[in-house]
Amino acid sequence: MNTRKLLVVGIDGVRLDLLPDLHTPRLDEVASAGFLGRVEIDATTPTMSGPCWTTIVTGVSVAKHGVWGNRLDGNRLDVFPDFTTRLAVGHGLRTLAAGGWTPLFLARDGGPLFLAPSRLTYIGPSADTPAAWEQCDREVAADAARTLAETAELDAAFVYLGAVDETAHFLGCGPEYRASIETADRHLGSLLDALRSRPGHAAEEWTVIVVTDHGHRDEGGHGGRSALETTAWIAARGPGIPPGAPAPSGLRHADVAAHAYTALGIPIDPHWSLDGRPFTTPAAVPAREAV
Ligand SMILES: [Zn+2]
Repeated sequence: MNTRKLLVVGIDGVRLDLLPDLHTPRLDEVASAGFLGRVEIDATTPTMSGPCWTTIVTGVSVAKHGVWGNRLDGNRLDVFPDFTTRLAVGHGLRTLAAGGWTPLFLARDGGPLFLAPSRLTYIGPSADTPAAWEQCDREVAADAARTLAETAELDAAFVYLGAVDETAHFLGCGPEYRASIETADRHLGSLLDALRSRPGHAAEEWTVIVVTDHGHRDEGGHGGRSALETTAWIAARGPGIPPGAPAPSGLRHADVAAHAYTALGIPIDPHWSLDGRPFTTPAAVPAREAV
């Protein structure tokens, strides 16, 4: 059984500038065991969920994956698959992708982004309202926590939470938005607790990455090039990442997928032509033992 494991939690639309004022102890826990660093969305990438999440999970830029908006039509995910698919199909690992935003998980709107993880959980909102999205995130987090806790052979997971972004679109970045970020932190906590509850946890080495795709203007909304929109962030902890170290310089969204492979001890094949780099050198994370 593989002892290297990976959890990536994607929280949509969380502003970096507001985090210091919010109660997010579980994100703080990840950051203090590793780093939390700013990501500047590069000028060629629309500050929208579709392109940014695609870059995060494929490790390549929009010029390669071809997702320019929230419809994923015309994408090149067959050539540049997400890490849950590449790990499952190419490396025989057990992977999970879970969340409630349709194009990431279903064959709608040009999706899915997650083509072929070992297990895919889609729990969509019952209505297009902030409350329905909060309910959706609760169910996604609970289901993913159960899978993480109970599936011994699971190697890597991506869990998506969408209520924070939806709340900003409906209500702006006021008290409801801030409360939603704190709620998302509790969901992150339930996922982290699930890892610790695994029967094999003592022998496992988990890498945890928490990432947001873009920011929001004060009134809610993104897609432009203001600093509030182009500022995202990544937090990570795990083997090879020193606690409290400064975030890697020039941190980019594409680094998430690159680090996913490195964290699992899988050498990055130059043919994948990833644009991201792992957070640490592969030498800092010993390669997977041959079995
Ligand atoms: Zn988004």
